[in-house]
Amino acid sequence: MEIVDHRLVGALRVDLFDHDAAGAVADGDAVFQTATIEALLDGAYDGDLSVGELLEHGDLGIGTLDGLDGELIVVEGAAFVARVDGSLHSVAGKVRTPFAVVCRFRPSITATLGACVSFDALTEAVRGLAPDAPVLAVRLDGTFERLVVRSVARQRPPYPPLREVVAHQAEHHLTDVCGTLVGFCFPDRTGGLEVPGWHLHAVDDARTVGGHVMDVALATGARVAIEATGDLHVEVPSQLGAVAVVADHADQVDRADQDGRVADRRSEIDAVEGRATPPRR
Ligand SMILES: [Zn+2]
Repeated sequence: MEIVDHRLVGALRVDLFDHDAAGAVADGDAVFQTATIEALLDGAYDGDLSVGELLEHGDLGIGTLDGLDGELIVVEGAAFVARVDGSLHSVAGKVRTPFAVVCRFRPSITATLGACVSFDALTEAVRGLAPDAPVLAVRLDGTFERLVVRSVARQRPPYPPLREVVAHQAEHHLTDVCGTLVGFCFPDRTGGLEVPGWHLHAVDDARTVGGHVMDVALATGARVAIEATGDLHVEVPSQLGAVAVVADHADQVDRADQDGRVADRRSEIDAVEGRATPPRR
């Protein structure tokens, strides 16, 4: 069994994060990520990178803030956070993030979608428009007849694991919202680096409400823009040990799934992302 998608291995650069060099790394068209989903699952909620530094690497993206203080949404180079009550606020550049993914969004594909009745229907429609690539970045503008978003409350040390936090998440069921979804699709096998599959965050046009997208239904006429890329640049905070992460990652590429740990992690990620484990592709 293949633990990490071979395309993602080819796409991946992992660097030890260094504040002195922040912004000095040439990203090219890379999708830039700070930390790994595996670290977040284990409760590493102290931010290392500032949102100001994050925005030097991209103008579209998703993530969370220091102490897991809500859902981060980056759209058109501006950072917003959806608090646990669903309300949206702009984020000061000095606020730190423990986990985020951004890119300089340069879509190669734009299209108008028909009506989509669910998150799965939407993502299938988008995937049908996209080329085969390790990572897809997506922006979608439209009218959402139904939009279910969640956010989480700020945590205090000692931090509980993410599955315990998400057990207390707040869901908000919105109707007839004009807004924007942004996010990414990663391969099903990312070895704990990333959230596999689709991960979308939402903001409304008035920038008053938003969150992590649990479900959505949209009327016909939504505009979708897609960037396909083969370059993922992960910076790992020094306290997590980049060398250990790289070694573990390389090991997972060659190792059979003997202890079921990777599969367990996959279902844990699916649980915290609010969805059932989809069939392997
Ligand atoms: Zn999210």
